[in-house]
Amino acid sequence: MGSLSTEAGCQAIREAWNCTSLEKAESFLTTQGSSAPLELENFVSNKFNPSTQHLDAINPKTGKVFARVPVSSAQEVDEAVKNATDAFKSWSKTTVAVRSKYLQKIAQLIQENHELFAVWESLDQGKTLARARVEVDRAISNFNYFSTFILHQETAARMIDGVALTYEHRSPAGVFALISPWNMPLYLLTWKIAPCLAFGCTAVAKPSEVTSMSAFLLCEVFRQSGLPSGVMNVVFGDGPTTGSALVRSPLVKGVSFTGGTATGIQIRKDTADQIYKHLSLELGGKNPTLVFDDVDLTKAVETAAMAAFENQGEICLCGSRIYVQSSIYDRFVSTFTSYVQDNYKRGGRMGAVVSLPHYRKIRSYLELAASEEAQFVIGEIPAADPQDGLWIDPVILTGVSTSSRVMREEIFGPVVTIAKFETEEEAVELANDNPNGLAAVLLTKDGARIRRVGEQIEAGLVWVNCWLVRELGTPFGGMKNSGTGREGGEYSRDVFTVVRTLHIPM
Ligand code: NAD
Repeated sequence: MGSLSTEAGCQAIREAWNCTSLEKAESFLTTQGSSAPLELENFVSNKFNPSTQHLDAINPKTGKVFARVPVSSAQEVDEAVKNATDAFKSWSKTTVAVRSKYLQKIAQLIQENHELFAVWESLDQGKTLARARVEVDRAISNFNYFSTFILHQETAARMIDGVALTYEHRSPAGVFALISPWNMPLYLLTWKIAPCLAFGCTAVAKPSEVTSMSAFLLCEVFRQSGLPSGVMNVVFGDGPTTGSALVRSPLVKGVSFTGGTATGIQIRKDTADQIYKHLSLELGGKNPTLVFDDVDLTKAVETAAMAAFENQGEICLCGSRIYVQSSIYDRFVSTFTSYVQDNYKRGGRMGAVVSLPHYRKIRSYLELAASEEAQFVIGEIPAADPQDGLWIDPVILTGVSTSSRVMREEIFGPVVTIAKFETEEEAVELANDNPNGLAAVLLTKDGARIRRVGEQIEAGLVWVNCWLVRELGTPFGGMKNSGTGREGGEYSRDVFTVVRTLHIPM
């Protein structure tokens, strides 16, 4: 494990950094007592700065407060943006070799503190420790990937015959606001930070106020990495106060945002008169899983269950609407139900859901389903006032109407609907009958159908006989209400750089 020098100057970092195992963290939280939660601080120009306004962070598995998260004011945001703007002048001129080394150093520091990150991510978000470990691996991959991606850039040149040569030149776009949601906090924030720094931009990041812990630990990694002052800044806070001030700042030249569709729309409105601003909006999903009657049932059930219930269904890519060809519908429902009962148990593959408001949101959809007389194949409406953590067992619903809000809106919890289809055409129609278009799962052995159906599904990402397989150069993003812009490899380069064309006469 990497050691922490006393220069950190922030008590909360020193305390949290000692919790290098689940046992240590749990023992720390027990002895800490509710009167002395960790007090997180913003990270600006390589220094931790205390804030005056705070909100509570809870451990979803117990419901107990363990930290206080700054709600940064517009003034604190402006200060961070100003520092990032100053740092941009020199950072944007560094060579890719220099930037690559910093990214590798950051990856190495996260790797050295792997379990520390996983433990706090699990305690803060409610996810299982196993799931958190996978996401820490992926965060490391984000830095490693972009650290080498930038070393091998090509550019396009064209000839105007006998007249001129033209070529494309890219430069970093400026200071970026990097805003992330609460479901995969470290993984999704680093998916923005890594390309942002790699392509020569500086950043002010704002993680979700619901899960700030891993971003807070990441600040210490940035400090230890020796990144030049002001290149990477983190302000904590909510959307209306902190996030809104950040995206509106005229000094911010781009926003890379992942979160809900309503917030994406708000950010578009708030930046509408800043036409220069790059916007990449990765938004919500309500993703279909199509199961055709030629599948290997055991494998199909495993994939559909993982797509529905991984991370308690709190992944934007989760397949929460399962459609099954009628000839295997009954067998699928019974095999799927047994598999979920055996494999998705509380404290095993199921963690707790992230917050009380989110618990209540999921609960309200289950009340709606009950009022509409859906069948609860397994699962039930959880207690209105949970006492020992925010636990919701998997819910499988049948008999939900296609027009029901349960079927149309993103619940973002451990709730899946199963319905029938007869023909391929109907399957495509049902899959596309939704305002969102982020991802889809297609389960079939028929090679021709894979392309025929796969290319008709209105989703940015279609997984065939698999789910959540990721290659970091692949364009990531959704269609319809699931967002605009793509990130990953050269698509991230488009987000974080400006391309201009030089014309050189013959
Ligand atoms: P959210 O939109 O409520 O919040 C996301 C982030 O935006 C938070 O940091 C929040 O503080 C900030 N924010 C809120 N209002 C803001 C404003 N007016 N200006 C600037 N920032 C603001 O989303 P959430 O509840 O944190 O996350 C769940 C949503 O994220 C789901 O809809 C899920 O599908 C989506 N998501 C999408 C992807 C993807 O890649 N498409 C990945 C993960 C999650």
